[in-house]
Amino acid sequence: MAVGRRRTEWRHTMAENSRIAGFRNMTVDERRAAIADATELEAESFAQMDATAFAPEAAADLSENVIGVFSLPLGTATNFTINGTDVLVPMATEEASVIAAASNAARMARPQGGFSTSSTRPVMQAQIQLINVADPHAARTRILERQAEIIDLANAQDPKLVEVGGGVTGLEVRLVEARSETYLLVHLLVDVRDAMGANAVNTMAEAVSGTVAGIAEGEALLRILTNKADRRLARARAVFDRELLGGEEVIDNILRAFELAAADPYRAATHNKGIMNGVSAVVLATGNDTRAVEAGAHSHAVVDGRYTCLSRFEKNAAGDLVGTLEMPMPVGLVGGATKVHPAARAALQIAEVSTAQELAEIIVATGLAQNLAALRVLATEGVQRGHMSLHAKNLAASAGATADESAIIVARLIEEKTFRFDRVQALLTELRSGGAR
Ligand code: NAD
Repeated sequence: MAVGRRRTEWRHTMAENSRIAGFRNMTVDERRAAIADATELEAESFAQMDATAFAPEAAADLSENVIGVFSLPLGTATNFTINGTDVLVPMATEEASVIAAASNAARMARPQGGFSTSSTRPVMQAQIQLINVADPHAARTRILERQAEIIDLANAQDPKLVEVGGGVTGLEVRLVEARSETYLLVHLLVDVRDAMGANAVNTMAEAVSGTVAGIAEGEALLRILTNKADRRLARARAVFDRELLGGEEVIDNILRAFELAAADPYRAATHNKGIMNGVSAVVLATGNDTRAVEAGAHSHAVVDGRYTCLSRFEKNAAGDLVGTLEMPMPVGLVGGATKVHPAARAALQIAEVSTAQELAEIIVATGLAQNLAALRVLATEGVQRGHMSLHAKNLAASAGATADESAIIVARLIEEKTFRFDRVQALLTELRSGGAR
C-alpha cells in the first residue's frame, strides 16, 4: 500500500511504507526507486526535481531581474506516521543533519502511534489602518453595524474563493494607541481554503477600504494582511518512546532543556530555530513562503510580552516523553510558487496532500520531530559529533575529493578528531600519491 491518503485509510490499517530501510545509504537513483515504490510517483515527477527542470525563463515569471536559478538539496524524511497513516515528508535544506534528525525522531514516535495532528480553519486576516478618525470608539461601532455590507463587498472580489467554500468569516475592529494618534484597525477574517492567502486578503482589504474609511469618517492608509496568523493554527502531538530515547535520565534532561527554553529567551531562540529547521525545509520544498511562516512563528512565540519557546514537553503518566507544538501555518497548495515550481509540485505529490490544512499539519509534525531530535542530542552527546562527520564530508567535497576519496578522508578526520581544511588537502594529496589508506 502506498503512503498517504490521510484521514481515510488510517482508521483501517497502519501503513508501513514511510520506513524505508537503509534509505540514508542509497544512491540518489536508488532513493528515487524506493520513493516510487512507496508512492505512485512516475519517473517524470523525479525529473521535475532535477536542477535543470526549472528553466530561468520560467523562473523569470516568479521574480525579477532573473539571471539564473539557485538550487538546494531536496530530500525526504522517513518514518513519519501522522494520524495513523505513513507520510514521506519532502524537505529542502542546505543544512546537514536536519533531514536525518527528523527521520530519527519520527522513528522514536512510531511505537506510540506517531503524530496526532489537528488544525483550525485556514483563516487569514487583512488589516486596514484608518487615520484621522475623530471619534474612534463611535467609528468602531458604526463599522460593526455595517459589517454585512462590508463582508459582501469583500467576498465579491474573489468569487472563486467563495465557490470553493472560502470567503470572509468575520470582521473585527481594534483601537491601537500609537504615538501620534489612536488608529482604528479593521480586520477582515477570511477563510482562504487551499491558498496561502496573502494576495486574496490584500485584494479584499484594498477593495473595501474606501467604504470603511467613509463609515469611519477618516482615511485608509495601510491595507495588508497580518503575518501574525493566529487564527490559522496547526497542532501536532507525539509520545516519544522512552527506550528509543535512551531511558529515563535522557527524558529528564530533555525536560530540563525544554524548561530552560520556556524560561530564557536566549535559549528559546535556538530552541525555536530547531523547530524552524524542520518547518522551513518543508515550507520551502513545497514552494511556500518561508518568510510568512517564520514571521507567524516569531510573533506566536511571544506570550504575555515575553519571547518563549513554541513547543511543550512533559512526561506522561507512563513516564514517556510527550511533545506538543502549536503554531500559525499559512501555507497553500495554490498560488505563489506552489504550482509554478516543478520541484514544489513533485514535493506535494510525495507528501500526498489534498488540502492546505493537511500540509500545515505535516509541517508542524515535522517541526516537532526536528525539535525533539535536537533536544535529545543536546541532552546527551552534544551536537558536534554528528555535525562534525557531516562537516567532514563537506570539507572533503570542497577539496575536490571523489566519493571514494571522501569516505576515506572522513573516516580519518573522525579518527583524528581534526576537522580542518588544510588537513583535508594534505590527506587528499597523500591519498592521490598512494598513501593514507
Ligand atoms: P494567489 O492569489 O495566487 O492564489 C489565491 C487565489 O486562488 C484565491 O484568491 C482564489 O481566487 C484562487 N483559488 C483557486 N482554487 C482555490 C482553492 N482551492 N483555495 C483557495 N483559493 C483558490 O495567492 P495567495 O495565496 O492569495 O497569495 C500567496 C502569495 O502572496 C505568496 O506568493 C506570498 O509570498 C505572497 N505575498 C505574501 C505577503 C506576506 O506574507 N506579507 C504579502 C504579499 C504577497
